Amino acid sequence: MPGDFHVHTQYCQHGADDKMEAYVLQAIAKGLTHLSFTEHAPLPESFTDPAPHHDSTMDRNKVEAYIMEGKTLQKKYKNDLQINIGFEVDYIRGYEQETQTFLDTYGPEMDDGILSVHMLQAPDKSFFCIDYSEEEFGRAADAFGGLTPLYLAYYNSLTSSVEAELGLFKPKRIGHITLIQKFQLAYPKPADFLEVQQHLIEIIKKKGYELDVNTAGLYKPLCKEIYPSAELIAYAEKLDIPLVPGSDSHAAAGIGKGFEQLSAYSLQLPQGLHI
Ligand SMILES: [Zn+2]
Ligand SMILES: [Zn+2]
Repeated sequence: MPGDFHVHTQYCQHGADDKMEAYVLQAIAKGLTHLSFTEHAPLPESFTDPAPHHDSTMDRNKVEAYIMEGKTLQKKYKNDLQINIGFEVDYIRGYEQETQTFLDTYGPEMDDGILSVHMLQAPDKSFFCIDYSEEEFGRAADAFGGLTPLYLAYYNSLTSSVEAELGLFKPKRIGHITLIQKFQLAYPKPADFLEVQQHLIEIIKKKGYELDVNTAGLYKPLCKEIYPSAELIAYAEKLDIPLVPGSDSHAAAGIGKGFEQLSAYSLQLPQGLHI
């Protein structure tokens, strides 16, 4: 296993307080050679975080400090670990312009990045953070008129994220493409959505993008499954889409967690990074 390419830090408002250096030391202790910090980029300024505690991302005022801290660690540990600094960027339909402005500003500093959908707009125009809690997920399902429309809205938004014009620094890796299943043991999938999911994977292929193979779902008590499922990983593998492993750690101890379950797959480093 070369590395962990989906990692959060103390800058995330909903994660542990472990410092970035603790993540680095844990990666080295685990024998990894690469680590990508992908902190949640601040949400667009004109967007109100719908999560009940408004803690979905890092603070806008801390972006420079995060990058600086990453660069210091990059130098300090350059003989032990290749550290990439980047962001997990939210794709929110209707906010593409502001998202691109962020990427245009900080892209030149980024070594890696992930594009993810966590926020969906219901027919009544209200937004939901679909992975926040079981209760919020239930509220979202009600607002969308059921689980089927909610699932379809999620895949629709993911498809738009792949196709969106977000400029030169648009992340090429699509995050946890089955996050909508985070609470599947409480809210069983209403259908298999295989066709929709395969279509998404096909457009990821067409764009030359890569897939975040994310072990976090394994440890979510109501999910217990890797994002995406083994069946979809196999489909992506058949299409030769780069599969990039990520733990989505929000605490240092989570680095590389569950990666032994990925041993059957041919995993790759993110594209465009120097090996
Ligand atoms: Zn997070
Ligand atoms: Zn995410």
